[in-house]
Amino acid sequence: MAVGLQSPAQATFWLVQGRTLFLMIPLLGTALFAYIVARRLTPLIRAQRDFRFDRPLTRLGRVFKFWLGQWKHPRYRFAGITHILIFAGFILLATRAFSLLIIGAFPNFVVPGLSGRAGHVYGLTTDYTATIVFLCMVVAVIRRLVFKPARYAVPARYGKGHPVDAIFLLALIAILMVADSLFAGAKAASNAQQGQAAELLAVFSLPWMLKNMLLSTAAAKLQGIYLAAYFTHEFTFFFLLCYRPFGIQFHVETSLFSIYFAKLDREILKPVRWGEENLDQVKSFGVKTFEDFTWKQMLDFYSCADCGRCSDRCPSNAVGRPLSPRFLSIKARDYAFQHYPVFAKLKNNNGTALVGSIYSDDEIWSCTTCGACEEECPLLVEYIDKIVDLRRGLIDDGNVPQSLQKPLKALESRGNPYGKLEKKRSEWAKAAEFQQVCRVKTLDQSNGADTLYFVDSITSYDDRMQSIGRATARILDHVGENFGILGGAEKDSGHEVRRFGEEMLFMALRDHNAKAINGSGVKRIVTADPHTYNALRHDYRNMPPVEHISQVIAREVKTGKIKFNPANEDCVYTYHDPCYLGRHNQIYDDPRDVLDAIPGLKRVEMKRSRDRSFCCGGGGLMLFYEPKEDQRMGVKRVQMAAEAGANVIVTACPFCMANIEDAIKVAGMEGKMSAIDLAELVDQQMAHSS
Ligand code: SF4
Ligand code: SF4
Repeated sequence: MAVGLQSPAQATFWLVQGRTLFLMIPLLGTALFAYIVARRLTPLIRAQRDFRFDRPLTRLGRVFKFWLGQWKHPRYRFAGITHILIFAGFILLATRAFSLLIIGAFPNFVVPGLSGRAGHVYGLTTDYTATIVFLCMVVAVIRRLVFKPARYAVPARYGKGHPVDAIFLLALIAILMVADSLFAGAKAASNAQQGQAAELLAVFSLPWMLKNMLLSTAAAKLQGIYLAAYFTHEFTFFFLLCYRPFGIQFHVETSLFSIYFAKLDREILKPVRWGEENLDQVKSFGVKTFEDFTWKQMLDFYSCADCGRCSDRCPSNAVGRPLSPRFLSIKARDYAFQHYPVFAKLKNNNGTALVGSIYSDDEIWSCTTCGACEEECPLLVEYIDKIVDLRRGLIDDGNVPQSLQKPLKALESRGNPYGKLEKKRSEWAKAAEFQQVCRVKTLDQSNGADTLYFVDSITSYDDRMQSIGRATARILDHVGENFGILGGAEKDSGHEVRRFGEEMLFMALRDHNAKAINGSGVKRIVTADPHTYNALRHDYRNMPPVEHISQVIAREVKTGKIKFNPANEDCVYTYHDPCYLGRHNQIYDDPRDVLDAIPGLKRVEMKRSRDRSFCCGGGGLMLFYEPKEDQRMGVKRVQMAAEAGANVIVTACPFCMANIEDAIKVAGMEGKMSAIDLAELVDQQMAHSS
């Protein structure tokens, strides 16, 4: 301790000896924090099971990448870098804060290994760290008060924002940094006044500046500042610790666990109930009350930092549908705080239906399951499973939107949402003109093949999409693939049905198709529909290997089996990543490689592409359901393509095609913009002479 300054342990504060006070504050603070956290965990104990304990090393690796490494934060450059600086600052300052707390009771304490030169280096580093964290707080407050980024705003329908809470927390951290720096600065100033060896403080750091300001301060006043700084630091530290679980700052504690327990196989949808294969035994499906969520889903609610990145990328939110993923979390977290209070008895109205109280039907049906929110979230908060679980709950209670009742009935009775006859499923392949160039066999016991082309409902029955089916068949034929279709034995893959929450119907469709596929004896499956691809790869079990047609084409371009004629010079193409090909299955390059292999093809990238692609609006049975919205997602997407300078949108999904072509008409851009499927374009450009 500096000569001339009384240490906090020796001083007296309001008639209490410092040593006693600074033993009591950490003990009481830690005990109170433990109590608050235990109360916060009460709903998690009552929650549903969730199996998240497998592959510990992989999980640990993700903690290093996403928590310690802050991997996703720089996706929003300015806010991300600020967050990384604050986070790194906290990690670096942890030892300094710990040592500061101990010297309140034991003034001569030095952290082992931090005496001598190592201690000086650490001291200098943390002087700068405290300064940077302080500056980050100032910047963050200015951002919130002056620049007000749109993604922090809280639309009236989602309740009130908490700007005061956010600024209060930022201010507390700033106070912590100033108190720490003032304590060090006052000590250094006193040493200098006493002619003692100069305290080594980092030049231009906050402690250094405060020291210089205090050099001419009277000794008695300096003593007061020194002790006040210490007390402020100690008190603020524990106040902050205990205050955090009451708001968004709780994510500081919970996010580490949220990331460790985050879903490893994101593409696989959560089962109705973990550990229950036989759904006949399940009495209630999905999430109806808060307690129907799993403990991990609840942990996510606590971990959401309310940063708004998910909603900023959510296409439903962008077109004014009543859905904002951020508020799915915030509303559930507020529900937990209200119904599981820390300092009061548990409310006895737990068990109230969530839809109708904190959520609306439209909100839950508005999601296209595009995955943009999950892709963006730096804390790996999951949304699709929660939304599907809430839908399962609605369906279980018979709350099916009117417009979806007919397609669902048709899927049940005919295996397709249009209610068309099974025997008409392969009519697309029977057009006379098409049969002259390509004969598609229907697989049965006497007619086998190596490859199954799984067509699925929209391509089989929709007049416009049948062209994608024929193009796919011609490509497979061109590369010499021995393939066939299931014809009337194929039913809808059930992909949308499952995401819509109709698990039993999905299981019936899956079991039927799995039997037909396995019975056909094929060695692999090809499809041109990313939804089908996703279903066969992730929702079905024990299937032969599945490929999307874009993968087949990319491979055959490389082998030289597919060669192209030059592209139309008047066209500028842009590729729209379908959500279930891109974000859900990471197939971004194959379609682009195919386009780039066409001689002379001009291709531009839309601002939102690859893992930030903007959903066309077609997922989750959305072709049959029109939520309230200000603008169609497809229209917004077409506008993005025009802004990029394209006049042809290439996609690789029949659902995207349906939405985008419709959007071109709605936007009045016919003649200026057109859409084509990748398979159609390849079929059109393929050179047949070789
Ligand atoms: S869910 Fe993730 S991205 Fe969305 S507000 Fe919360 S922390 Fe931010
Ligand atoms: S999955 Fe897509 S539509 Fe659904 S909440 Fe997330 S971003 Fe929005």
